[in-house]
Amino acid sequence: MDYSSIVPVLRVLNRLYNNTPRHGESILGSMTTQPLPIALYAFTLFSHTNLADIELFPPLKEMEVEVLEYMKRLYGSGVGYVTAGATESNIIALYTARTLRGGRSNYVIAPDTVHVSVDKACIILGCRLLKIETRARPVDPGRVEDYVKKYDPFAIVITAGTTELGLVDPIREVGRIADEYNVFLHVDAAYGGLIIPFLYEKGLIAENTYFYKGVSSLAVDFHKFGSVPAPAGIILFSSRELMEASCFDNPYTLSGRNCGLLGTRNGGSLAGIWAVFKSLGLDYFREKALWAFNLATMIYERVNSIEGFEALKPATTILAFKHRLLPPEYILARLAERRLYLYKAPSVNGVRVVVMPHFSERLVDKLVSSLREISGVKIG
Ligand SMILES: *Cc1c(COP(=O)(O)O)cnc(C)c1O
Repeated sequence: MDYSSIVPVLRVLNRLYNNTPRHGESILGSMTTQPLPIALYAFTLFSHTNLADIELFPPLKEMEVEVLEYMKRLYGSGVGYVTAGATESNIIALYTARTLRGGRSNYVIAPDTVHVSVDKACIILGCRLLKIETRARPVDPGRVEDYVKKYDPFAIVITAGTTELGLVDPIREVGRIADEYNVFLHVDAAYGGLIIPFLYEKGLIAENTYFYKGVSSLAVDFHKFGSVPAPAGIILFSSRELMEASCFDNPYTLSGRNCGLLGTRNGGSLAGIWAVFKSLGLDYFREKALWAFNLATMIYERVNSIEGFEALKPATTILAFKHRLLPPEYILARLAERRLYLYKAPSVNGVRVVVMPHFSERLVDKLVSSLREISGVKIG
């Protein structure tokens, strides 16, 4: 091994790293966060393992059992497996639904707030996605029922924590409709899954994320609020039968089968999820969710108090705002000059802040003072 050839690479690598935005200093719009040290350690330790061949690595099976027990406590079902995130989970959910669709039409219905990965899933699967207009509100169950009657879809997708505004669709009521008309209901709780149950339990929001009657599958991500290195998601099913419909033969591996979309997948993803739950438990997420909810409300109040800005009261932990005169692109560009990165919220013609575990009062102060500068408010 010629170590001298490594040194120049290290030099470049470190320079590139130093030019990468850091979550705690700069990132306010992305659903990614700085992974927790324990999650990173577990991920690295198990990075040689392959989840698609779990029989070869028995300790992974032990971890999977324990992680699924946590899922059962949180959502009421512990039947499922680790995925690369909600994009994979959403594709798999619709694949499963269509495999079981019987004589139903090729339509999927969803509120227009649904994540783009569901559009992608339908492009890949060749289904037709019909969107129910919501005007940036949780979907009206009555509209869902009308669409079900009219189009006889093979699946309904709703969201617990929409990407732009953090809205929670009414899972219990849509579940009742799915059950009555015997339609597959998938709940996309990618971002909200680790937040909503704790806000609900404290009475801060009206909707929970749970396997209510009629829910067939649920997707939750751990590489978002869960602070596990990506890729780390889970798909859950209401029964083993449904889960089986998402599995395929793979005769050359020890288990002989393989569930989900991907082949080889990093066992570190599961180890990371396991380590976070085992070391910090549900109490950590309970505390973080409440903290994030309060912080979102605080940011809302502070942004609203700046002349020219209008913020929308956050439904959960995502907050969108706009300026009366300045377009979103202009605001994003001026913030980026100050190394603050937010995302667009096209449905309200504004920009958005996603409160994540790396947020601090200092980061929020930096945002607020930058917005004052940008809008021409005199400082001090
Ligand atoms: C982030 C997100 C997705 C996509 O998940 P990935 O983990 O990026 O594949 C899907 N749906 C919702 C609601 C999301 O927030």
